[in-house]
Amino acid sequence: MGGTFDPVHLGHLVTAEQARADLGLDEVVFVPAGSPWQKSDTTTAPEHRYLMTVLATAANPAFSVSRIEVDREGPTYTVQTLRQLRELLGDTRLFFITGADAILSILTWKDAEETLALADFVAATRPGHDLRALRDEGLEDRVTVLDVPALAISSTDIRERFARGRSVSYLIPREVEQYARKHGLYATPGWGLWGGGDV
Ligand code: ATP
Ligand code: MG
Repeated sequence: MGGTFDPVHLGHLVTAEQARADLGLDEVVFVPAGSPWQKSDTTTAPEHRYLMTVLATAANPAFSVSRIEVDREGPTYTVQTLRQLRELLGDTRLFFITGADAILSILTWKDAEETLALADFVAATRPGHDLRALRDEGLEDRVTVLDVPALAISSTDIRERFARGRSVSYLIPREVEQYARKHGLYATPGWGLWGGGDV
């Protein structure tokens, strides 16, 4: 499951768990992006996003976090990650889990045909995002739709809540909240809550 995870929230975790259960997966590997080329406004250091994802998943024996994108130089392309994972995993069946909003940007951009051939693609339902576009792109037979309990949670909203001093309880794991506060990750200067943000 790829993402920026800035920060990881319960929408991500519920999606991962639903995929594990419905598809009978042995393991769900979270892959935090290094420098997402489509998200130039993301300033949170990859190491912070990686560690928050570890904190959120550590207790689940079926969840793990990969450094594959965090450690790679240059912009993050899914196709490169899948090529690397394919090589590492040999015959293991590989699924790529995304949400309804992310699926089209992955499959209609760089090296779409190769990307589709490298893994089985799964698109999770997400409030506010329509999967009908998959049909318009002729992708409905090549992507499995995963029904996920609707959680209208986004990292964008979580970052805004932090910056405005609003509660993030029950939207992100407590450990992630504590880590973000300790490092002042989402405090906007001027709100006077926390400073910093550098590693
Ligand atoms: P941002 O607002 O910064 O874009 P986000 O909440 O969309 O953050 P990402 O890290 O961009 O989180 O998402 C990683 C993956 O998880 C994407 O494939 C996205 O579609 C999916 N996803 C995120 N939130 C949900 C949710 N609430 N329900 C289902 N899928 C989700
Ligand atoms: Mg997103």
